[in-house]
Amino acid sequence: MYKMAAYCRLSRDDGENRSSESIENQIKIIREYIEKSEDLELADSYIDDGFSGMYFSNRPQFQRMMKDIYEGKIQGIITKDISRLGREHIETSHYIERVFPSIGIRFIAILDGLDSISHRNEELAQFQTLFNDIYCRDISKKIRGSLEVQKRRGNFMSGFAPYGYKKDPENKHRFLIDTEAAQVIQRIFSLYLTGYSKGSIAKLLNEEGILRPSEYKRRIQKLNYTNAREKSAVGGWTYPTIHGILKNRVYIGDMVQHKTEKISYKIDQYRYIPPNEQIIVADTHAAIIDKNTFVQVQELLKRRARNSEIPRESTKKNHYIGIILCGECGRPMIRKERRNGYECALYHQKGNAYCRSHFIEQSILDYVIKIEIKRQMKTLLEAGDEFEIWGREYQKIVEKNRSIRKKERLENRKKELKKIEKYKKKTYENYEGSVINQEEYARYQKDYTEKEKNIQKEIERIRAEKEYGKILEIPAIRWIENGEITEITRGILIELIDRIVVNEKKTLDIFCKYQSPYK
Ligand SMILES: [Zn+2]
Repeated sequence: MYKMAAYCRLSRDDGENRSSESIENQIKIIREYIEKSEDLELADSYIDDGFSGMYFSNRPQFQRMMKDIYEGKIQGIITKDISRLGREHIETSHYIERVFPSIGIRFIAILDGLDSISHRNEELAQFQTLFNDIYCRDISKKIRGSLEVQKRRGNFMSGFAPYGYKKDPENKHRFLIDTEAAQVIQRIFSLYLTGYSKGSIAKLLNEEGILRPSEYKRRIQKLNYTNAREKSAVGGWTYPTIHGILKNRVYIGDMVQHKTEKISYKIDQYRYIPPNEQIIVADTHAAIIDKNTFVQVQELLKRRARNSEIPRESTKKNHYIGIILCGECGRPMIRKERRNGYECALYHQKGNAYCRSHFIEQSILDYVIKIEIKRQMKTLLEAGDEFEIWGREYQKIVEKNRSIRKKERLENRKKELKKIEKYKKKTYENYEGSVINQEEYARYQKDYTEKEKNIQKEIERIRAEKEYGKILEIPAIRWIENGEITEITRGILIELIDRIVVNEKKTLDIFCKYQSPYK
């Protein structure tokens, strides 16, 4: 008697055949076949529901079956047809022609009339796997087609709502605001406008213990969420996460889909779609960020990208480039090296007929900006109320997340301690069994003891950490020492000044970045 594994599989790529391919139907056919055969008995059923036939390694039940095969629990596999085993020609053939024969596994695909023991229909099997492959290619196109129609209607067609939203339980193609995450989104936008860089926003959120979006989805929203990119992620907020959020139109209420595309129906890899080819439908859900703020951020993103292109040496002298504008024509002003100042770019290019020079010396700019920043800082420090209220709300979220993070960190350390305990025991056994000598043993023990001590110390430190406390800082403060700004640098300007407009008779309009979110 052959102990047979019944293998069933159903997935989206079965397209219109889904009902005839249903798991029940597959099982029924297999049972009937086994009952009629004299040398087969059903040992176990392995059912991968919702898994594509393109891949083998990600199917849990297929993997469990292979494990049972290697452990000798099963002598054969029976499927309704070859496509249930797999839809990818090369790998499916590889299993049927190489793997199964080499480990003595009998393979039966009922409807294809294949039974490896009778060598029946082996040529047909080859043809069949090739056919299945072509079929899958076709279906994958069809699925893409119907998905696109849905997306053009503004229906959300993916598994998980973006961070800041949750799926509407009444209509899973729409979003509702997730208040807690939405507040973090708002904070990210406002920090960026305040002058924080993307990297420093990520750093700040990490320090505050705010769960990163994927963790939040798993832990707070209780979603079974995984993210392909996450494997390589350091854990915590990163520059790309912040960048992605700042650019995402979903936060002004637009549905943005078709941002990535599978490179091929075979490869589990994606390419980015340029924005003009993405499927965007406006105003499908409530906005988290108002349009005005969003537009400001987009401009700033562009401008800062440009700013960072300025080579390092020249930034010292040119620190107003990209920030200073002509008040008459609105063009940027360019550097006049010889006279150590700036003049209108339009005038510089086309002369008197178009605009005037509006030349201004850098030393004057430095002087005025220094005074202005100091003045602004003073009002900001004194004003405070609005800033406080906004801060307290935010603080609540931070504290909650901090306490979750703290618990998690403590648990991890305790796990590490247990592991070391195990190693210690193992080393002792090795010593007893003369696998290692006394000297080695002593060295290992010393190593482990030291590690233990360090972890203990860390545990104490984490325990002592406060889950509350002042978390907000006014970013510009760090430029000021003893009430003085020592020197105007590119860094200060980028962080604090939005733009400087040079008007007639050298009067200046100075627009600060930190004004908008607090005032
Ligand atoms: Zn001009």
